[in-house]
Amino acid sequence: MYAAQQLYYNGRVQEATSGKIFTTVDPATAKPIAEVHAASERDIDSAIASAQAAFPSWSQTPPLVRSRILLKAVSLLRERNDEIAKVETHDTGKPFSETSTVDVVTGADVLEYFANLVASGGLNGETTQLRPDAWIYTKKEALGVCVGIGAWNYPIQIALWKSAPCLAAGNCMIYKPSEVTPLHGQILAKIYAEAGVPPGVFNIIHGDGAVGGYLTKHPGISKVSFTGQVSTGQKVAASAAGGMKYVTMELGGKSPLIILPDTELENAVDGAMMANFFSTGQVCTNGTRVFVPRSMKSAFEKRLVEKMEYIRSLEPMDPNSNFGPLVSETHYKKVLSYMQHGVEVDKASLLYGGYSKPKAIPRGYEQGFWVQPTVFTNCTDSMKITTEEIFGPVLCILPYKTIPEAIERANKSKLGLAAGVFGKDLNQCHEVISKLQAGITWVNTWGESPAEMSVGGWKQSGVGVENGRRGLNAWVREKSTLVEGGGAVGTVFAKL
Ligand code: NAD
Repeated sequence: MYAAQQLYYNGRVQEATSGKIFTTVDPATAKPIAEVHAASERDIDSAIASAQAAFPSWSQTPPLVRSRILLKAVSLLRERNDEIAKVETHDTGKPFSETSTVDVVTGADVLEYFANLVASGGLNGETTQLRPDAWIYTKKEALGVCVGIGAWNYPIQIALWKSAPCLAAGNCMIYKPSEVTPLHGQILAKIYAEAGVPPGVFNIIHGDGAVGGYLTKHPGISKVSFTGQVSTGQKVAASAAGGMKYVTMELGGKSPLIILPDTELENAVDGAMMANFFSTGQVCTNGTRVFVPRSMKSAFEKRLVEKMEYIRSLEPMDPNSNFGPLVSETHYKKVLSYMQHGVEVDKASLLYGGYSKPKAIPRGYEQGFWVQPTVFTNCTDSMKITTEEIFGPVLCILPYKTIPEAIERANKSKLGLAAGVFGKDLNQCHEVISKLQAGITWVNTWGESPAEMSVGGWKQSGVGVENGRRGLNAWVREKSTLVEGGGAVGTVFAKL
C-alpha cells in the first residue's frame, strides 16, 4: 500500500476537506493500493488562490531562470526514473519494461525541450517595420492560472506534457490526475518543488468529473488543457467556452493504418502489432483499423497469428513482460463487451484471442483485469468494432482492393487523431498520407511521439496541439504594439 494521497498546493501537501475518499487499485491484482482524498470546492478555490498569488512573480521570472529550474526537475525525473516507473506500473498495470523506458522518459524529454526552447528565444515575438519611422512589435505573454486534466493511460507523461510548456511559458497550473491513476501527482509536485519551482506554481487536485467540472468553469482559470474521451471533451470545451477560456483538447481516435501492396510482410505485421498491442491497446493513437490488400490478406493473417505468440503477460515487474492487464474493472468490462459484440452482433471473424479469460495469467494475479490480445478479420466499415474507440487490444483487419478505396474508407470516420501507411515506395506513401484526414501521421513506423513533434487530432479528436514549437504557442497570448516614431501625432482634428 502507498500512503494516502492528499492535495498539493501553495508549495505543500494539504489535507482535503470534502470528506470524500476513494481508492486506487492495482489492475494486475485488483487490490487497493492507496486511499485518495478528493478536493472540496473550498480546497479548489484555495489552490487557485495560491496559483494566482504565485503568477505575477513566476510570469516575470526571466525565461532563462525558469528554464534552469525546470532543467533541475528533468535531472530529478531521470535520476528517479525506475522508482517512478514502479509506481506507474502499480497504478496502471503496465509492464515495468514499458513504464521504465517510455512513461517517465518521454515526459522528462518534453520538459527538457520546453525549458530549452524558452531559454533560447522561444517566447520572442516579431518586429515589423511598417514605415521608416513606425514599427510593430509583438510579445508572447503568459495566460495566467491554467488547468490540466489528465487521462489514465500515460499518467505522469500527460502531466508533464501539459505542465512543461505551461510552466516554461510563465503560467501556473492546477493539475487534476485521472481518479483511476492518481499516484504520480504528489511525486511530480514534490520534484518540481525540490527543483525550485515556487509555491503555488504547480498544484495537484484530486477527484472525479465533478472536481474537473468545477475547475473548468472557475472564473479564476484562463485555460483548460484536457486529455480524455471525446464525450468528456465536449463537456469540458462547452464549459470552458462559457468563460471564453483557451482550450486544448486531446481526445480519442479510431485511427487507420494502411498497408500498401509492396510492404514487406514482416514490417506490415510488426507495424500492425505495435499499433494495436502496445500498452495493452490503451493508446489514443492506436491504428485499430488495419487496411490490408486482399492479395496479402492470407499471408498477413498467417504471420500475424504466429507473432501473436510473442505477446507475453508475465508479472508486471518481470523485464520480459510486454503485455499487462487493462487499467480498471470498468474499462475491462467495456473492452470485453466490445469483443463480445464483435463476435455475436458484428459477426466479424475472430482470428485470435476473444473475450474468454486468458490462460496465461501470471500466478497470484488471477483477480486482475487481464484480457487476451484479440484480432478480428473480414471486418467491414459499418461494424461497431470498426467505428467506435475500444481503447483495448483489439485489432480489426479490413481487406481492400484498390488504394483509393482504402483511403476513402480510412477517412470515413468522425475521428481524425492519427493515421499511418506502410510501403516500400516512399513517394506513394507520401501521396497516401497527404490524403488522410488526421493530425498525427506516420510512414513505416507507428506510435513514436517525440518532444519535437507537434501532436493533435483533427475532426472530433481534438483542438490544438501539444509538443513541438507550436505546443508552446498554446500557452501564451500575443500582444501587438504599433509604435509611431515620427514625432507629430497624425490627426484629422487639427483645424476647422
Ligand atoms: P475520460 O474522458 O473518462 O476522463 C479524462 C479526465 O476527465 C479524468 O481526469 C476525469 O476525471 C475527467 N472528467 C470527467 N468528467 C469531467 C467533466 N465533466 N469535466 C471535467 N473533467 C472531467 O477519459 P479516460 O477514460 O480517462 O481516458 C481515455 C480516453 O483518453 C480515450 O478516449 C483516449 O483516446 C483519450 N486519450 C487521448 C490522448 C490524446 O493525446 N489525444 C492521449 C491519451 C488518452
